[in-house]
Amino acid sequence: MENHPFVFAFGVRTDGSAEMRELLGGKGANLAEMAKIGLPVPPGFTLATEVCNFFYDHAGKYPERLRDQVSIALEELEEQIGKRFGDPNNPLLISVRSGARESMPGMMDTILNLGLNDETVEGLAKASGNRSFAFDCYRRFIQMYGDVVLGVRAGGETEEEPFDLIFRSEAARGDDVDFVQVSERYKKLILERTGSPFPQNPIEQLWGAIDSVFGSWRNDRAILYRQRYGIPASWGTAVNVQAMVFGNLGENSATGVAFTRDPATGENVLYGEYLIDAQGEDVVAGVRTPKNIAEMVDEMPESFDELLRTREKLEQHFRDMQDFEFTIEQGKLYLLQTRNGKRTGQAAVRIAVEMQQDGLIDDRTALLKVPAESIDSLLVPVFDPQALMATEPVAHGLPAGPGAASGKIVFSSDAACRAAEQGDNVVLCRTETSPDDLKGMLVSQGILTARGGVSSHAALVARQLGKVCVCGASDVTMNYDDRTLVVESSRGHPIVMREGDDISLDGSSGAIYVGPIKNIDSDVHQVLTGRLESDASQNFHLFETLMLWADQHRSLKIRTNADTPEMAEQAITLGAEGIGLCRTEHMFFAEDRIDHMRKMILAANEEQRREALAELLPFQRRDFYGLFGAMAGGPVTVRLLDPPLNEFLPQDEDVQAALAERLELGVGFVVDRIEALHEQNPMLGCRGCRLGILYPEITEMQTTAIFEAVAAHRKDEDALIVRPEIMVPLVGFQSELADQVSIVRRVADEVMRSSGVEIEYEVGTMIEVPRAAITADEIASEAEFFSFGTNDLTQMALGLSRDDMGSFFDCYTSKEIYSGNPFATIDEIGVGRLIEEAVQRGRATRADLKLGICGEHGGDPASIAFCHRVGLDYVSCSPFRVPVARLAAAQASLREL
Ligand code: PEP
Ligand code: MG
Repeated sequence: MENHPFVFAFGVRTDGSAEMRELLGGKGANLAEMAKIGLPVPPGFTLATEVCNFFYDHAGKYPERLRDQVSIALEELEEQIGKRFGDPNNPLLISVRSGARESMPGMMDTILNLGLNDETVEGLAKASGNRSFAFDCYRRFIQMYGDVVLGVRAGGETEEEPFDLIFRSEAARGDDVDFVQVSERYKKLILERTGSPFPQNPIEQLWGAIDSVFGSWRNDRAILYRQRYGIPASWGTAVNVQAMVFGNLGENSATGVAFTRDPATGENVLYGEYLIDAQGEDVVAGVRTPKNIAEMVDEMPESFDELLRTREKLEQHFRDMQDFEFTIEQGKLYLLQTRNGKRTGQAAVRIAVEMQQDGLIDDRTALLKVPAESIDSLLVPVFDPQALMATEPVAHGLPAGPGAASGKIVFSSDAACRAAEQGDNVVLCRTETSPDDLKGMLVSQGILTARGGVSSHAALVARQLGKVCVCGASDVTMNYDDRTLVVESSRGHPIVMREGDDISLDGSSGAIYVGPIKNIDSDVHQVLTGRLESDASQNFHLFETLMLWADQHRSLKIRTNADTPEMAEQAITLGAEGIGLCRTEHMFFAEDRIDHMRKMILAANEEQRREALAELLPFQRRDFYGLFGAMAGGPVTVRLLDPPLNEFLPQDEDVQAALAERLELGVGFVVDRIEALHEQNPMLGCRGCRLGILYPEITEMQTTAIFEAVAAHRKDEDALIVRPEIMVPLVGFQSELADQVSIVRRVADEVMRSSGVEIEYEVGTMIEVPRAAITADEIASEAEFFSFGTNDLTQMALGLSRDDMGSFFDCYTSKEIYSGNPFATIDEIGVGRLIEEAVQRGRATRADLKLGICGEHGGDPASIAFCHRVGLDYVSCSPFRVPVARLAAAQASLREL
């Protein structure tokens, strides 16, 4: 390790580049890249992510050569800037920031103005000729260092930050805040809270900050964030040390955050905000509400022009929408960071499509730039305009996360979680949010803040989570103590709302309403369902263009899980090419048929059962007829009855008695039958193919209904040809499948003979039992297709109930025991291996075996990528997931190239 580099410079000499994000993190890699292409970046150096891993593997120690390498890099930096770190006359000040491979906004630590102490602050005052500025920097530094490194911060849910409290009390004294006095009181606070004076040695400060930034990789909120976004703990963070530039040097200085396009709508305009005479954290933390960047044209015209040129250069070089931080120090522009900007789903689509149309990227790149999930946001509901007419907004904030949300007011993350657990929709109302609010934001329908701009923490995170968000609503005050939200109204008395009251937010316009408001479908959805002209919706054209490209590049087919003609039609409008799973049991729950079903289940013998089944047959036939018609000849996989029968029976005694009366059966008989059908473990009991084996007449009835419906279509005027796929559930043995296949084939022959219609069909099985996966070569001799039921397969492979994993799952999440939720994303290493085994064995027996997936994973982008890799023919997902699946399937194909 003697000469192994851990530290990489950027500036006059630049060691890194954008390609090195694994080693340098996103921020470090892009700082290097910007320095290379001649953008004005204050020089500095990056400590590589592998140092972070070393730090954790060696109980907080560093590689031996690191200290030397940091000293050398610091000396080089001093030379470039012409100032020395710790120089009492004119000190070099630095920032120390985190920077992981993927940006994790606000989750880890940052320290600015490092290098100040009681002596150097006087040097800075002298050198800048501005004592107030010097002590402004010092108090900022003491606060950040005190909070981040020394842990001096608020304790309880509503306790105020102790530094802020002091600052406000000083501010209340009169006109200008005395920063010298503030700094003194901050230092005193630190002495009181920690028992030690504020550290004066700049080198000690530097290493304290580095320790702390590496340490923040494993803080609770970073862990939660990684869980949510599937970022592995093994990536680690880099640490960036950079010369400070100052946006707080008076009226010709400023700091800001800008996007090269509008991150909310995707519009091709410079978008952002800035604060004059301020430092970067003021904008991001949402402490002061910044100005819209458009105002800079008048306030700082030259800097504005330079920003426009920078915007152009950034997009031409990075070929994606950039989110960049800048500082203007006495008229000179510096860039402190750039990264691909987070954006709403709607903006992601618009930016990708328009960049392709502008020739910046091709359609493949455009497809890869839209997170598959985000296409959903074009389809999310908005407020019903009729309902909106009847109400008036009571205030406005900044529109920061589009969509419509109504819910009960809560003032803290904990309250949000508690209410959400009760099943309430909630709107999290905070003065400003901090990264600690992430868990509350996750469970809320909407987020409202009183302070902070469109790049404040609340806005960034909400956009990423796809949450509705209105921020910086300055007429709104949150009173945490008495749990009220007060809206200053220009037309009379303030409006007071309490915790638990309903509030509504329009995250697209920024409007805030008292009370709940009805939602309606989005314009894209309305066009898709024929309720709006396509020309009336720009979003629809963007959606269509992207979906068209996706369909050109994907090889996986997309089916849907649908049990009714309505669901099937909805899925078709969203692009489904077939039904991958019709759960026939769902057809029995309707009021007009559930009693027939119960009669069948309660039957004491075969004769009674056949009688009840004969009553169910016409319902089933009609349902299948409708479903086949809706799919207009497209493939439909019908699954035979699957769930444990007790799911259909009432458990409540009164309801059992009423049922007995309706069915003209004795109460005692009904109670006894229900008792007899009781199982300790119904999920592992008499369900799936076991039902059809035990009661062959059920399989006979369902098969009859399917084939008679197909025959009826053929005899209709339009002679629709349907090729049904009959699927047997929960098979573990070849002999189980053989038993059911023989019934299906016999009944099919009978219906064909009696109707005189020749019908092509397939019989196959679900693969849901691990035994089926590892004996798939035997099973395939009976099956013409496999469909992976990954809900049950995961349940059985992991020995984990799909219905109630809540009790320990939180603990598993916080300890990072599972890398994610195995019921949401396929556990590739375990369940995935079973699938691969089944694919390979199945195809060894039957080369043309058709393969699909119909568990919930069929709509999950990461799982879809897996399905593509292992060679499935299709994925099947719920109707609303179809666009996501189309895009994810295209991305899986493109990533393979
Ligand atoms: C499955 O188990 O993945 C599946 C699709 O069947 P169900 O969810 O109906 O048990
Ligand atoms: Mg199942």
